[in-house]
Amino acid sequence: MNVADSDRLSRSLENLGYSRAAGAEDADVIILNTCVVRQSAEDKALGRLNSLRPLKQAKPELVINLMGCLVGVQGNQVMQKRFPWVDVFSGPSDPQPLLEFLGEAADCEQAKAWREQIDQVLDEEFGVLSPTQGPRVSENLPIVLGCSHACAYCVIPHRRGRERSRDAEKILHEATAMTERGAREVVLLGQIVDRYGLDLPRSPLLPELLAQLAQIPALKRIRFLTSHPNWMTDALLKEVARQEKVMPHIEVPIQAGDDNVLLAMRRGYTNAQYRELVGRIRELIPGVSIGTDIIVGFPGESEQAFMKTYDLLQDLKLDVAHLARYSPRPNTYSARFLEDDIPAVEKMRRFRALEDLQEQIVGELNKAFLGQNVPVLFEGKSKKRWYGRTPTNRLAFVDSQEDLLGQLRTVRVNWTGPWSLIGELVPA
Ligand code: SF4
Repeated sequence: MNVADSDRLSRSLENLGYSRAAGAEDADVIILNTCVVRQSAEDKALGRLNSLRPLKQAKPELVINLMGCLVGVQGNQVMQKRFPWVDVFSGPSDPQPLLEFLGEAADCEQAKAWREQIDQVLDEEFGVLSPTQGPRVSENLPIVLGCSHACAYCVIPHRRGRERSRDAEKILHEATAMTERGAREVVLLGQIVDRYGLDLPRSPLLPELLAQLAQIPALKRIRFLTSHPNWMTDALLKEVARQEKVMPHIEVPIQAGDDNVLLAMRRGYTNAQYRELVGRIRELIPGVSIGTDIIVGFPGESEQAFMKTYDLLQDLKLDVAHLARYSPRPNTYSARFLEDDIPAVEKMRRFRALEDLQEQIVGELNKAFLGQNVPVLFEGKSKKRWYGRTPTNRLAFVDSQEDLLGQLRTVRVNWTGPWSLIGELVPA
């Protein structure tokens, strides 16, 4: 979501005549977009913010904008005291404070034209054309902003505000604009993406939106993330199976395998219900890959409780597991009312145990692709090799002298590892 927010703001600035600086030292405006979902992310953002202070001292006309969840929806008075070298504070998904600040700084003659331009930019949403940004094959497209679920550990509802589904017409328009710029895949984003449309009267829901997006001729692939288990309907799963352009990859976090921990997390489902859901997804979408998120070391997670998560991962053999160690986040229920009682070393041990297990699982799953032909949408080059994604979101590399950017080509896999596949192009 932050990548999409940054893209939107940089496009807005480019439309207003700014261009990218080579580095922070050369910039007239620096925007630091921040994430605080875990303590480590917040520490990193604060470190970077502190490192900008000498630049501002050396060049007072430099404009520094602190954006994103470090600012949040609560306003910026406290932040202003804490970081006096920051000129503008803006919450997540909100380019307006910076654009208005820059507009006010413009001289009188320019100001009117500038303000008109700002209004125009603010009217546009994600995915509008940028004059200088190169084509990107896979684009992020937010369709639900914020979240109203309030899981015990999660700071997002406090920072990104309540759930707001975006207008379907706008989404279709933006997806079309993205394909005109060269995108061949859109990744629909939402904190609970499978709730799309439920908060809007007469809005299409996610299955209908997928069907409408699939009508865009230049669009080859559609993905969506992240889903919540409780909103994953059969209608949605059947639509994923029915629409060729919708990739068979579902991101649906479990977070913990123990029912008491799940209850304390306020997730709203049990271990058994999640297992049943995985069975249903696999039944309705043949060949599907499934990703999950897991937090280890939530308050009160005993060794037995942790082993429920371990066993679940071992049994279900999911394709991806995004792992995190619990850290209390300000204003969340767990930070206020539950003791962070699992020592850091123990959190790390549990994290490593799951990491090792998942590496084994994915290594084994990927072996099934050896010798297979898979369609790969190529997104770019890394160390002279072209890379792209398979339908189930596996990273695949090939050596080729051809320009493969944006092409959907068949690859015969001749090497597999836990994190990627390597192969060669099958002649068309
Ligand atoms: S559903 Fe996701 S974003 Fe919403 S509160 Fe829970 S973890 Fe946070």
